[in-house]
Amino acid sequence: MSGMAEIASALLSEVAEPQGTSGNKVTVVGVGQVGMACAFSILTQHVASEIALVDVVADKLKGEMMDLQHGLTFMKTGKIVAGTDYAVTAGSRLCIVTAGARQKEGESRLDLVQRNTDIFKGIIPNLVKHSPNTILLVVSNPVDILTYVAWKLSGLPKNRVIGSGTNLDSSRFRFLMSQRLNVAPASCHGWIIGEHGDTSVPVWSGVNVAGVRLRDLNPNVGTVADKENWEQLHQQVVQSAYEVIKLKGYTSWAIGLSVAALAQSILRNAHVVHAVSTLVNGYHGISKDVFLSLPCVLGENGVTHIVKQPLTAEETAMLNKSADLMFDVQTGLKC
Ligand code: NAD
Repeated sequence: MSGMAEIASALLSEVAEPQGTSGNKVTVVGVGQVGMACAFSILTQHVASEIALVDVVADKLKGEMMDLQHGLTFMKTGKIVAGTDYAVTAGSRLCIVTAGARQKEGESRLDLVQRNTDIFKGIIPNLVKHSPNTILLVVSNPVDILTYVAWKLSGLPKNRVIGSGTNLDSSRFRFLMSQRLNVAPASCHGWIIGEHGDTSVPVWSGVNVAGVRLRDLNPNVGTVADKENWEQLHQQVVQSAYEVIKLKGYTSWAIGLSVAALAQSILRNAHVVHAVSTLVNGYHGISKDVFLSLPCVLGENGVTHIVKQPLTAEETAMLNKSADLMFDVQTGLKC
C-alpha cells in the first residue's frame, strides 16, 4: 500500500484537494432486477457523476458493485460505491428506492403493501439522515401508497418525494399506440394517469399525433361504442406487468429506462413533463392526502408544477375512484 502511495505522489502533483462528493450523486436502494436496471440505465445514459448502491444482502451487493466497476472504463460516471451501511449514500441529490418484495404470479401490487411499508421504515429515515437535501424517487410497489409512506417517514416537502408512477404505463401505452399506427412511440402522445396499477386512467380525450386528436377523428375512441376497440390498448397496459412477470418472472428494462429518464430530468433541471406520482390533494376534486400520477414538471427541486389537464367527467370520476382506493389502503396501514 505504501509503495502505491509513493508511486502516486511521484506521478501526481496535487493542485487542490479532490472534492469529497461529486454534485450528481445518485443512490439506488435494492440491487434486485429493478434496482440494477435503474442503475445500469443511469450509468449508460451518463446521468450521474457517482452511484451508491445499498442492499441488505451483502454478497450480492458487492458482486453487483464489482461487476459495474469493471465497466467504468467504458462509462462517464466517476465512481461506484456500495454498502449495507447508509453512510455510503451521503450527499446524494437523488435517492431511488427499489427495495422490497415484488409481485408473485397472480399477485396484485396492492398485495405487497404492508410488507414493503415495514421495509421502508428501515430505509427512508436513513436516506434522509445522510442526504437531508435529497429528492426521493420511489419505485417499489405499490408505488403510489409507498410514495405516501416515504413522504410521511421522511418529513421532506411534497415536491421532493416522487413516485415513478405511470411514467412507465404511459410509455407502454405509447408503444402499443405506435404498433397500431406505425408511428414511433416518441411521436404518439397519450397520458396514463392515476394509479400505477389496476385502476389507472387513460386520458383518451388528449391522445394525439402531431396535435391531431384521435377523438376528433372518431369521437368514440376509448369507449365501448368504438368499433376499432382502442380501449383494448389500455387493458393491455394494465395487463403488461402481469404478462411480463408470467413470462420472465419480473419486469426490469422498461422500468429502468423510465426511471433513468426521470433522473435525467431532475438532475439536469430539465423541466420535462412526466406522469409521476405526487400529492394530488386539491386537484381534480380530490380532497385526500393520496399520491397518484399527474403530468408534472420535473427539475432539481423535484415536482415544480402540475399540468392542469382538462379531463372529461368520466376521467375525473375514474381518478377519484383511484384516490378513494389509495385512501382506503392507507387507512389500514401501520406506518
Ligand atoms: P427483487 O426481489 O429482484 O429485488 C429486491 C431487492 O430489495 C433485493 O435485492 C433485496 O435484497 C432488497 N431488499 C429487501 N429488503 C431490503 C431492505 N430492507 N433494504 C435494502 N434492500 C432490501 O425485486 P425487483 O424485481 O427488483 O422489484 C423491486 C420492487 O420494484 C418490487 O416492489 C416491484 O414490485 C417494484 N417494481 C416497480 C415497478 C414500477 O413501475 N413502479 C416496476 C417493476 C417493479
